[in-house]
Amino acid sequence: MQRHSSRIELSQSALQNNLDFIRRKAGNDTVISSVVKANAYGHGIQEIVPMAEKCGIRHFAVASSYEAEEVIDARTTDADIMIMGILYPEDLPWVIEQQIEFFVYDYNRLKRVIEVAEKIDEKAHIHLELETGGNRTGLKEDQLDAVIKQIKKHSDQLILEGVCTHYAGIESLSNQSRIQQQLKKFGGMVDYIQSSGINPRLQHTACSAAALAFPETVMDLVRIGTAQYGLWPSPDIYNLHLLEENKVSDNPLQQVLSWKTDIMHLKEVPKGDFIGYGTSYCASRDMQIAVIPVGYGNGYARSLSNRGHVLIRGERAPIVGSVNMNVFMVDVTDIENVQIRDEVVMIGSQEKNAITIKSFTEVSDAINNEFISRLPAAINRKVVS
Ligand SMILES: *Cc1c(COP(=O)(O)O)cnc(C)c1O
Repeated sequence: MQRHSSRIELSQSALQNNLDFIRRKAGNDTVISSVVKANAYGHGIQEIVPMAEKCGIRHFAVASSYEAEEVIDARTTDADIMIMGILYPEDLPWVIEQQIEFFVYDYNRLKRVIEVAEKIDEKAHIHLELETGGNRTGLKEDQLDAVIKQIKKHSDQLILEGVCTHYAGIESLSNQSRIQQQLKKFGGMVDYIQSSGINPRLQHTACSAAALAFPETVMDLVRIGTAQYGLWPSPDIYNLHLLEENKVSDNPLQQVLSWKTDIMHLKEVPKGDFIGYGTSYCASRDMQIAVIPVGYGNGYARSLSNRGHVLIRGERAPIVGSVNMNVFMVDVTDIENVQIRDEVVMIGSQEKNAITIKSFTEVSDAINNEFISRLPAAINRKVVS
């Protein structure tokens, strides 16, 4: 049986191209940690992990212990794994035994980690996440003395793999003053830790936007999600790239993901009839409509009702009416010789045309990640060259 009414293709050469570009930006001595949280931003963690390993990646970052388990299942090398987010106390023994690295952003968590490590007689691989102004997770300055004391005392239980922080919106130029404050604060806190005689192995602060546009944020490791999938973190970051290259257009990133389905049904609609639910679209002429077997229940955005496009026979077919739970309709009146089961490209290219993830959500780039990270895990993924 077909598992799903659509399919996703993942391009190995696009991923290689993007990681090569990031490598040039980050330099040869910096570890690239491939961020594969949220099912690898919807691409599929089981596929993306071995694909990235083929490109030389040996470090993966996730947001939870269950995602770490998925990376363990998917990896084909001894690649390291780092949990940046939620880690339940019940999972601590497993995480420590598996030598999974994780962020510590709380003094009580540190105490707990030491207890567990002591009990199972293993060393925990920790990164201290520092609060520098993002006010999400992170250890505050006034907690540093207590943390340093514990780390010194428990060198048999703890390996300090790194110190890190995360910027509060570095992809937007309007946040630059706050970001500069964060960078300064991070430097000060790291100096303080080092002056106490502790030396973290890796310092890291950069996400995609930081690594692409702000060299001063690139340290021993960079945590790259968005850019490796071929998406620019924001128009600001893309424009900084263009300024640097002195060009009006130049996109060195290639979209890794394509999303396709086929025409399910064709219908002639007479002028004056409404299409689909309600009255949001009235046929302005006699039309031919193709029914597409994908809806918001399959991860398509309902906000693309009467706005989005798909590609059929290399041409753009606009969505008419609203996106339903499991179907939507497109206008194919002007496309010749359309047949049931013709390929429909929702994201990706067909002949000379392309639909980018960016074009879906021009209004807000944050939504690029929102949209793709919600693509259902049940959709079949295929790796292509
Ligand atoms: C998600 C995440 C990243 C990756 O961000 P991108 O902008 O997608 O590169 C980096 N660091 C942390 C802490 C994250 O949560």
